[in-house]
Amino acid sequence: MAQDQSPLKNTLRPAVFLDRDGTINEQMGYINHISRFQLLPGVAAAIKKLNEAHIPVVVVTNQSGLARGYFPEELLVDVHEKMKQLLAEQGAHVDNIYICPHHPEAQKEQYRLACNCRKPKTGLFIQAAAEMDLDLSRSFVVGDRWSDLKSAVACHATPVLVLTGYGRGDAQYIGPGQEVQPSFVGVDLAAAVQWILAQNDSRQNKDN
Ligand SMILES: [Mg+2]
Repeated sequence: MAQDQSPLKNTLRPAVFLDRDGTINEQMGYINHISRFQLLPGVAAAIKKLNEAHIPVVVVTNQSGLARGYFPEELLVDVHEKMKQLLAEQGAHVDNIYICPHHPEAQKEQYRLACNCRKPKTGLFIQAAAEMDLDLSRSFVVGDRWSDLKSAVACHATPVLVLTGYGRGDAQYIGPGQEVQPSFVGVDLAAAVQWILAQNDSRQNKDN
């Protein structure tokens, strides 16, 4: 009943965290040129469904290419502008983008760090939750690699694997030996979002 819930709990929202490369855009290795950023089919429509359901969409991406000196920070800004533009053309948007630029063996000193934000670490998820009033335990993390799933479990969110990007190969060759397993495997982001929205609906029905 409503009066049993603490006010704090009511203010925290579930979110959908999305990995970038291989989940939103075509896996092309390092996106070291703007031309290498290509949205995967169905991604904009899937994100639009989350927008329409008023579920915050948060991108969390490891970009060690910065640390390795493969591309400058300006390119990352341009790539994310392109992403936002391509999504906007189809009426979709992401609410925030969190980037880990670090690597312990970075060429550039400012990025050389054994950080707590490079997935499978949870630093960026915890930061997003604090800044955006999110409830990680009711959130979902969607990605194409086990590092995404591990970070999900470590922050008590629900892990979802997509078979785009590295997903199909990792599901076949990496996944079977892993302690962490996805709660759902979708062929792509559209399938993942369809499942997430169904979970969210059934939770809301239980709450009502
Ligand atoms: Mg990925």
